Amino acid sequence: MQAEDASEEIDGNLILAEALKSQGIEYVFGIVGIPVIELSVAIQQVGIKYIGMRNEQAACYAAQAVGYLTKRPGVCLVVSGPGLLHVIGGMANAQVNCWPLLVIAGSAPEDHEGIGGFQEYPQVEASRLYCKYAARPPNAKLIPTHVEKAVRFATYGRPGATFLDFPANLLTQQVKRGEVLVYPPVPTPPICYPDPKSVKRAAALIMNAKKPLAIVGKGAAYAHAEKELRDLIDFVHIPVLPTPMGKGVVSDMSDYCVSSARTLALSEADVIILFGARLNWMLHFGRPPRFRPDVKIIQIDICPEEFHNSIPYAYALYGDVGVTVKLLTTEFIRNSWKVTLLSSWWHQLLEKCKSNRKTVDNYIKDENPPLNYYTVLNCINRIIPKDSIIVSEGANTMDIGRTMLLNSLPRHRLDAGTFGTMGVGLGYAVAACMWCRDHAPGKRVICVEGDSAFGFSGMEIETMFRYKLPIIIIIVNNNGIYGGFGKNDWESIQESPELGLANPPTALSVNTHYENMMGLFNKKGFFCQTIPQLLDAVNLALAVEDHPSIINVMINPSADRKQQAFSWLTGSKL
Ligand code: ADP
Ligand code: MG
Repeated sequence: MQAEDASEEIDGNLILAEALKSQGIEYVFGIVGIPVIELSVAIQQVGIKYIGMRNEQAACYAAQAVGYLTKRPGVCLVVSGPGLLHVIGGMANAQVNCWPLLVIAGSAPEDHEGIGGFQEYPQVEASRLYCKYAARPPNAKLIPTHVEKAVRFATYGRPGATFLDFPANLLTQQVKRGEVLVYPPVPTPPICYPDPKSVKRAAALIMNAKKPLAIVGKGAAYAHAEKELRDLIDFVHIPVLPTPMGKGVVSDMSDYCVSSARTLALSEADVIILFGARLNWMLHFGRPPRFRPDVKIIQIDICPEEFHNSIPYAYALYGDVGVTVKLLTTEFIRNSWKVTLLSSWWHQLLEKCKSNRKTVDNYIKDENPPLNYYTVLNCINRIIPKDSIIVSEGANTMDIGRTMLLNSLPRHRLDAGTFGTMGVGLGYAVAACMWCRDHAPGKRVICVEGDSAFGFSGMEIETMFRYKLPIIIIIVNNNGIYGGFGKNDWESIQESPELGLANPPTALSVNTHYENMMGLFNKKGFFCQTIPQLLDAVNLALAVEDHPSIINVMINPSADRKQQAFSWLTGSKL
């Protein structure tokens, strides 16, 4: 805050905008209306970028993507009542993903409360379940105190969501500048070091393992622990399995990445080290039959409540993943320990990688229309710049995309995440592209969407045009949710109305020309049914730098994942 005239009268709007600025907030995403329009203008006037979105949930997803990419919360600004309620899904998503976020909502003036005020709602109470901190500053002078606290809660310990409520009368309240309680910016979170004895014991356990496995999660990505982890892996040659958003911390192209043998690696490993990853549904809770009953787990995490969550662990290393990895590496170097590449463990994994790749290759090679997922995703992977940020959602599109779309850099994949949220894609893409424009010019954002997932927030295409964001949206279209519907399926369904199936719940319209949304902005999209058409479309879209593109790829409605050893979400003896 500037040290101007202490007797100057300023209002809550300006105090809040200045407090956000002084806390290092760079982006605010939102939808404005009464009573936050003046606030959004004040936010722009202090030099924060305001991005107006078309759906509050998308704005909230955008804000939290900034939090994940920068470790500083993005802000989501919304109106009262319905505005706040629409972002609750986004708050929950940030909280479950452990991403920093600050939601700010206007609310009805306090003297209208309890008598049916406009969009009146118990907003602090409603948010509390989805947040680490939810409050309403009691006075304009105290706004910076609460902003500081919200930013601190969002980023310290395990990151998460926070909420601040601003009744209209608080935003317009006038106070003297000198009376405002000014707060310095929240320092970067203190680094938590693990107990050295536990590190030594955990290292000893790893060095005694016959089949060790490293699982790298999005906590390691968030912690920016890529250098430490790459050094460790390069030195000890331990097989690495990334979680979906842990991809790229160690490159998917690394010789030590065993994603192609995931099921085998999980089921045979005797010692597993979790680097910023949780043993939740995504990792089948660490339980048989997906894991050995006697598997020894070592988890590195900054949240001690997470330890021993689904099974008892061998060692819980309570500390920042970066420093803990360094300490482990020191132990391994001191003992000159590494996993020999000639071990039967490595042999087994490499053989499995090879045979699984062969199966996938058969799908990839089949370029006959109607196309399958693997051919389409492989084509996208080949042609997009290797440093692109990939946003991906949709059931099969995302699951198969996780194996086909490779990441060589950390924090370059944003997907449905721990909460399995569909509808995040376009909001994430807007945030990622804004961030690239300011901090990594030239880097592209490729948004690979299922047709159902795209529908959740398709109108954000207008946001992308308004801000001239060259996001490439590729819709992998099977006319439905999960498995799709073809023209013939439709016709036979329509012919048997007595079955009561005229509109199956998982069906979407057949051959929808989503690319025609480009026509709203006098541009042309791409409709692709073959690989050459897809290649052309992506190339043309890559040449565009000042607006988004939509590529609508029709695939075989009955295209599916390759045969899986375990059916989805099953395989844990609960
Ligand atoms: P994934 O989906 O990749 O498994 P999760 O979100 O489930 O990732 O788990 C990430 C874990 O990383 C969380 O338990 C979180 O507490 C932890 N985490 C976040 N930042 C750090 C850090 N700096 N050091 C260690 N652990 C961290
Ligand atoms: Mg679909």
